[in-house]
Amino acid sequence: MHFEKVAIVGVGLIGGSFSLALKEKKLCGRVVGTGRSAANMKAALARGAIDAIEADAVAAVRDADLVLIAAPVAQFEKIFLAIGPHLGTECLVMDAGSTKRDVVSAAKKGLGGKISQFVPAHPIAGAEKSGAAAASADLFRGRRLVLTPLKENREKDVKTIADLWTAIGARVSRMTPEEHDGVFAAVSHLPHLLAYALVDDISARPDAPRLFCYAAGGFRDFTRIASSHPEMWRDICMANSDRLLAELRLFEKKLKTIGAMLEKGDAAALEKLFGDARLARERWLKGEYE
Ligand code: NAD
Repeated sequence: MHFEKVAIVGVGLIGGSFSLALKEKKLCGRVVGTGRSAANMKAALARGAIDAIEADAVAAVRDADLVLIAAPVAQFEKIFLAIGPHLGTECLVMDAGSTKRDVVSAAKKGLGGKISQFVPAHPIAGAEKSGAAAASADLFRGRRLVLTPLKENREKDVKTIADLWTAIGARVSRMTPEEHDGVFAAVSHLPHLLAYALVDDISARPDAPRLFCYAAGGFRDFTRIASSHPEMWRDICMANSDRLLAELRLFEKKLKTIGAMLEKGDAAALEKLFGDARLARERWLKGEYE
């Protein structure tokens, strides 16, 4: 498995890490990249994540064998529409977007008859850091990669993409786009929303400086992901708003239940909830749900 020319559209944390991993495993010839910020593209070149900067996505995908789209998801439709007419018939396209129903619909719109060449993918790896400077060849090692193949895909192309991610250390599984967006609304999108909400709530209070002054490890751990890129998370939340709202409503119910325990002074119920939660987290950390 070897791709002579790889094009990365959006060479940030994910695009840059993917490229570094491909290069480390010698799975590609040349990697070109394109992006919105000149400073970030220079950083990507300086790090060796890409071999050349292209002016735009159309120039980048010319003669490419593999294209990775790793910009924020609201950019995808524009990118697919631009590159669609310029993709070679043997070129495989994949993405790294955190949502899938919107990405698939943008790809169908933009790629038209070439939709079979697009294999949707989401690496379940990342960080609150962004940009090529934060990229690392190890980012995907031991982490999950979810493919949401389309009925139009050729099985051999899906297998090529799965093998590629496996070769750089990811553990590949498959879901439908609908399943994907439901699962990640619960375990990724909701936690990010809650972390942002808590920090915003504290920071908007008149005594915020004093509160932050005493905030320590618990606050730091709970809110780490509120340092994530706001544009990326805006796009994810908007793209998956129906599933995210359903999770938010469930969570509001849970908070009400806990509030009632506090009002009633029901220490036993509170302790049971904490105990159950701790046990579930320990099982998850031990890998019992793998
Ligand atoms: P990032 O901010 O590090 O990189 C995104 C890059 O895309 C930036 O360099 C930006 O300049 C560029 N860009 C923006 N608009 C563009 C456009 N129209 N054309 C070309 N480039 C454009 O973000 P990231 O963390 O690498 O995330 C990239 C994608 O991967 C997103 O879709 C995100 O949802 C997904 N993702 C992120 C994580 C994570 O934890 N960071 C994990 C899995 C998937």
